[in-house]
Amino acid sequence: MKRFRFTGRRAVQQELLSGRINRRLWLEATLAATASSALMAVVVGLVVLSQSARGLQRQGEGLQRQLSVGITSYQPLHDLQRLLQQAASSRDVESALVVDQRGLVLAASNNALVGLTLPHVLQLPNQPLLRELFRDCPTTSTLLTCLTREEMVFHGPLPSVGGVALMAMRQYPLALEGVGRFGDRATLITILDTQTVSREALLLVFQVFLAGLLPLLVGCVGLMLQLRRELIPELLRLAQIDSLSGIYNRRAFSEAAVAFLARAQQAKLPMAMALIDVDYFKQINDNHGHDSGDQVIRDVSQLLREGLRSSDLVGRLGGDEFAILVQLTSWEATQMLDRTRQLIHATPIPTCGGKVVQVSLSIGLASTASEAGYDYAALMRAADAALYLAKNGGRGQVVNQEEDRPVSSVLRAVSTSTSGEGWHIGGIG
Ligand code: GH3
Ligand code: MG
Repeated sequence: MKRFRFTGRRAVQQELLSGRINRRLWLEATLAATASSALMAVVVGLVVLSQSARGLQRQGEGLQRQLSVGITSYQPLHDLQRLLQQAASSRDVESALVVDQRGLVLAASNNALVGLTLPHVLQLPNQPLLRELFRDCPTTSTLLTCLTREEMVFHGPLPSVGGVALMAMRQYPLALEGVGRFGDRATLITILDTQTVSREALLLVFQVFLAGLLPLLVGCVGLMLQLRRELIPELLRLAQIDSLSGIYNRRAFSEAAVAFLARAQQAKLPMAMALIDVDYFKQINDNHGHDSGDQVIRDVSQLLREGLRSSDLVGRLGGDEFAILVQLTSWEATQMLDRTRQLIHATPIPTCGGKVVQVSLSIGLASTASEAGYDYAALMRAADAALYLAKNGGRGQVVNQEEDRPVSSVLRAVSTSTSGEGWHIGGIG
């Protein structure tokens, strides 16, 4: 007869691994790599931006020093004007202007501003940065007071790490030829465009992100593969195996059984599901102690497992109840299970007290030839109903709800019992 190509427990484990766990691991590894790379890029970006912010501040101070010479030296005003214009021709200097202490623009990199008063300049639409610099000096008198303060601030988003402009303002003694009197002072306002530096830093952030992504992805995937190879199988084993009996627990059994049944249905192979319950197990616990009961569960599990092929499934559903899924016809399964039942019955199991117990099993069987078909839940229900009959019929027997042997196709219930010689079909005679 045709048999399954897959082998029982390992195949199920492989299936679980290559299924949802694999998908989840890939997703997590990719997300972890992307998030780590982004975090690394942000950290690098902040470091680079704050470094460049310090560089810009030095550049701002340098510019102030360089231009202040034009205010504090005895020279004609037009020399100062030329100096400011030259400075503004460099790519980073947005504008520079010198305002006297009465608020009159003496010189500016933008010629059009020369001779205007500061309040007037602040109203011009193309002076948003200057307005920002004097935003807390709303009236003319406060504006003049503000001219005396020393300031160097970044403006724009993320001002602490560079922003879009660096605005500096400082007052110097005025010594221009023919301008002002002795003791007059003038304020030098410089505005540096920091956008290029910020943009370069942001580009670097992006490059760091891209450069970090590949090694981090490789690292995370490597870690994932390592986990998959070593840790996950162990975790899966722990999650699937009942710790007392060493066979599948209820969840693992049902998942594996559903997969087995689906394949068997595709291959049109007959399957049989059996529910097995130890008879009078409570009495074993009561008479020999709970530890002896545990020993019985261990030994019965072991014996059940030994009676099966690697392509069959066995699990402990809980307490003293077990389930078996075998790729056999209903008739073959009945025979095989009854042999197993007899073997276990004939095997004395040692108790902790040094005595032995003889274990009787009741087994309910349902096959895919029945109305349940390949539906796991329906097969379980049918097997449970058969188990109920086995218990009610005196225990120590196999009851098959649906016999697919031609001669007994008219029978509703088939049972085998330890009480007779070998096994007999209940309901016939
Ligand atoms: P029946 O023939 O009708 O099945 O009678 P029973 O005494 O076996 O009754 P049942 O199957 O309901 O008994 C299950 C008992 O198994 C109840 C519980 O105390 C015991 N049990 C459940 N889990 C464990 C376990 O892990 N170890 C031990 N030692 N006993 C357990
Ligand atoms: Mg029981």
